[in-house]
Parts: sequence; structure tokens; C-alpha cells
Amino acid sequence: MANVTATVGAGGAAADGPATEARAKRRISILGATGSIGTNTLAVVTEHPGDFEVEAVTAFGNAESLARVARQVGAKVAVISDRTSYNVLKDALDGTGIEAAAGAKAVEEAAARPVDVVVAGIVGAAGLSPTLAAIKAGSRVALANKECLVCAGDLFVAEAKRAGVEILPVDSEHNAIFQALGANRIEDVERIILTASGGPFRDWTREAMLNVSPEQALKHPNWSMGPKISIDSATLMNKGLELIEAYHLFGIAAERIEVVVHPQSIVHGLVAFRDGTMIAALSAPDMRMPIAHCLAWPERGRATSLGLDLTKVGRLTFERPDTDRFPALRIAREALAAGGWATNILNAANEVAVAAFLAGTIGFPEIARLVEETLSEARSAGLDSTPTTIKDVLALDKEGRRLAAQAVQRFAASSPAAARRMD
Ligand code: NDP
Ligand code: MG
Repeated sequence: MANVTATVGAGGAAADGPATEARAKRRISILGATGSIGTNTLAVVTEHPGDFEVEAVTAFGNAESLARVARQVGAKVAVISDRTSYNVLKDALDGTGIEAAAGAKAVEEAAARPVDVVVAGIVGAAGLSPTLAAIKAGSRVALANKECLVCAGDLFVAEAKRAGVEILPVDSEHNAIFQALGANRIEDVERIILTASGGPFRDWTREAMLNVSPEQALKHPNWSMGPKISIDSATLMNKGLELIEAYHLFGIAAERIEVVVHPQSIVHGLVAFRDGTMIAALSAPDMRMPIAHCLAWPERGRATSLGLDLTKVGRLTFERPDTDRFPALRIAREALAAGGWATNILNAANEVAVAAFLAGTIGFPEIARLVEETLSEARSAGLDSTPTTIKDVLALDKEGRRLAAQAVQRFAASSPAAARRMD
């Protein structure tokens, strides 16, 4: 058992004594700076003027927003993946002295610029190559982009170990577990517990969920997040991805990772030790907390609003997830048991399915069905051997997307979403 906890244990936040008031500025880069994680990172940076210096900010095609962010934080370089947006970015940065660049390779180069911490906030497997570029350059990574671990798992962790860099979890549950682990030994952990809000359909029957619209599924009860993770939270696939994420981050057997539904989203994660003690980390559901924690680590920053009054929260409740109504969690657990090829296909198929649901092509329950069917097709097609190089990971991801896109075509004809379009 090792992975992130080994590096964390060695670092030891407590060993350094109280934080000194005047600390050197942290140099950071933000991948996916225009998204929800990017915006929350920006909030942490602007709430603490003088603490950070921003080197690079990146986005996919949202050139105007990226230029705004770059100006706001005084970044050295702003990079857009989509080359067709380059002129907009360049014009918007004219006269600022901020360098503009475009293309996937330019994003990787930006990620590889030497900094203290790179915030990996791109959504989906598209974040893998830039995050690996940051790792290879030796930068510590504040990882929000869980799909990196789901699609490349062992290889991703091996790259981080080879480069000797820490992967600090931004995902609130993993950040909580990382904090609850503290200086404890992973060998003393009996199990870890990820909490799940249950999403907007926690109480809904299977029948009621047949016809939910993208608008309904996008409305998360506790968190405001990007569209993909919001849908993942509604299907509970997000918790499935997080199970796989936890397995790789903490190097703990899958059967020792438990998921518990906790609708209040106050307790984000718990560690149960073998002496019977459980340690939990609590905070308001606000992504600025885990982001700020990763950016300041191994020290602690100062939050602008602490805001958690337990007497106002009142009740904290916990219940078992229902994998009959939310099969995605079961499918993810099975994929984790099947190996790296399966988690890779799971992620690719889920990305395709979520996009198809958001486009109104397939219905809500079909997201999980499509993922399961794609996994079984991948097995039949002989894709069931675990990739041994990142090149293989990317090739498998491509195959998974191809199979999933074919499934979308099949599902589209018979889906309730299609029936709605005919009305
Ligand atoms: P958003 O959709 O809000 O933002 C995604 C960001 O990535 C945007 O900056 C977008 O740029 C950029 N991007 C999208 N596609 C590409 C691509 N192909 N190449 C390069 N950049 C791209 O997502 P979130 O911020 O919600 O989520 C980001 C990651 O963090 C996900 O992996 C998610 O699971 C994880 N996470 C998010 C949480 C949250 O609270 N939002 C909580 C925990 C984890 P553009 O704007 O130009 O499209
Ligand atoms: Mg989470």
C-alpha cells in the first residue's frame, strides 16, 4: 500500500511546526481555468492576494473567458486547445504582455512549465496528457481530473512515482480522506469511506427516472459543478469513478472502500482504523476548501469564510446506496475488479453516454446501460487486456469511444428521449 499517502506521510504537515506568516509565493498553473474547478481556483487565488503567482492558464475553446482569467491573475501564458479560437484569444490579450498559444501540444507545454503546483481541472480523459506533462516536469499536481486515474490508473501512479511528485486530491471526498489519514500508516487502515450526496434523484423511483431531462439532472442539490460531473453525480457514476480514484490514490483494496449516501454533504470522507477509531473530515460543501488545502500543502492557508456551524447543520444522516436504482456504482465496482482495460472503457463509454444524454439523444437510465453494454462488447472484441503504456491507454480510450458511439446510435432509436423528440 503506498501511492499518494506514502508521499504525504513522508512530507508530514505537522512536522514543520506552525506556519510562518510571510511565506514565499506559490507558483501555480491552472489547467481547465474556465471551468468550475478553474473558477474556484481563481477564487482562492484572488481571495489571497500575494500568496500566488500564476504561470499558465488553459481552456478548450472558451477564448474570451480564458483571456479574462489570464488578465485577472496576471498569467504569463494563456493556452487554448482549439486552434480555431486562437485569433480571439490573441486579440483579447493584445497589449497585455500575456503570451497566447493554441493546440493540444501547446497545452501540454504550458502544463510542463516549471511551477510549484499544477491544478489539473480539465474534464475527462482529455486531461490525461497535459497532467502527465506536468508530472514529467516534476510539478506537484492538485488533481481534480479523476478521469486520469480511471483511464490510466496504475500507469498514471507509476509516472508520478517515477517523477517523485505528489498527487494531491482536490476531489472533496479524497481530500477529506487524505486529511483524515494524516500521518497515520496506510497499513493501519481498516477501510475508507467515501460519502455521496445521492444526487438530485436520490429518492426517485426507477420509473420516475425514466424520463428525466438534462435540465433536471444538471440541478445538483448541494454543489455547483460542470455539466459532465453533474450528470455523473445524478447517475452515481461519479461515485463509481471516485471509487476507482480512491483505489489508485490510496493503494487500498477495492473491498475496503465503502460508499455511503450522506445527503447533507458535510462529512466528505472517513477513515476507519484497525483499532476501531474513525476519523472524518467535515466542511461546508465548497470546492474552495480542498483546492486551497492542496495549494497550501503541507502548510495550511487561511479561509476567508469558515462558515460551518454544526448547530445550524443540525442533522447528519447516512444511508446505503441503492445499486438497483443506480447501477452505475455496481458497474464501476465490477470494472475495477476486471482491471485497467475495463476502467478505461468504462470512462470512455461514460463520457460518450453523458454527452449523448446532454444532447437529448439517449435517456437518463440508458447512460449506465450503454456503459455496461460497451464493456461487454469490448470484452467480446478482445480488448480485455490491460494497457502497459500510455500510448495503449489512449488507443483503448479511442476504441471505447468508437464502440460507445455505435451503441448511442442503437439506443437513440428506441430511447424515451427520441420519443420525446418525435412529439
Ligand atoms: P467544467 O466543464 O466546468 O470545466 C472543464 C474545463 O476543462 C474548462 O476549462 C474547459 O475549457 C476545459 N476543457 C474541456 N475539454 C477540454 C479538452 N478537450 N482539452 C482541454 N481542455 C478542456 O468541469 P469541472 O470544473 O466541473 O470539472 C473538471 C474536473 O474536475 C472533472 O474531471 C471533474 O470530475 C473534476 N471535479 C470537479 C468538481 C467540481 O466541483 N466541479 C469536484 C470534484 C472533481 P472550455 O471552458 O474552453 O470548454
Ligand atoms: Mg467528489
